[in-house]
Amino acid sequence: MERSEKVQAKLSASKLEASSLCPAYFQANQRFTWQGDRDSANEGTIRHEIEENQVPLDKIDDDERRKCAYRSRLAIQECREKVFGSEDGVITREERYWYEDLWSGQLDYMEALGVNVFIADYKTLHGSHTPAPNNIQLLAQAVLVIKNHPEVENVFAALIEPFNDPTYTTVKYTRKFLEEKAMWFEEVAKRAYSKDPDQVPGGKQCKWCSALYVCSSARSHLLSCINK
Ligand code: SF4
Repeated sequence: MERSEKVQAKLSASKLEASSLCPAYFQANQRFTWQGDRDSANEGTIRHEIEENQVPLDKIDDDERRKCAYRSRLAIQECREKVFGSEDGVITREERYWYEDLWSGQLDYMEALGVNVFIADYKTLHGSHTPAPNNIQLLAQAVLVIKNHPEVENVFAALIEPFNDPTYTTVKYTRKFLEEKAMWFEEVAKRAYSKDPDQVPGGKQCKWCSALYVCSSARSHLLSCINK
């Protein structure tokens, strides 16, 4: 799925953690092109589209993709039942929300019922991710929910990892907590858009930074680690 120019020009929920660690991360990635392969990212996109369209399992030819879909749907079902019981909320998939014009995020799954919302983010490939209670991307998505839905008081969030054990981790946020975190994200975004933002190297942010191969700060950091 192609991202619009407006979306490309601004931060997204998935980039806020790296931007909080290195203020230069966003502009560096705007300026330089990713040099590694994109096979994993492309496969992840296909699996997200399968969930967005709820492709029936018997119509998914690839075994890994089918397993991914089956486990993801099971995990979603368990999580949403814990939040809503047997009641059904309004479900949206891949809806994009904005925080003013500062940053945006696309929510893989969202179900709303009264003052409660359940959101989920799929990590459809193998590999480990920060569990829900400490996951900044999930937190950013929850902030988008309260920003755009004034009636919502609680956001229940799940990180769905179909190839991990357990296949999901969860967290509950209150509106008050998210409003405080929203202030922090505003600061992160403003620093990221500022002139000559600081370059702060580190494993988490540099790993997926397109500028890694030309970044003098990352290079100095690497050499200082080697020469210790
Ligand atoms: S390579 Fe690391 S230090 Fe350099 S801009 Fe990217 S994230 Fe920041």
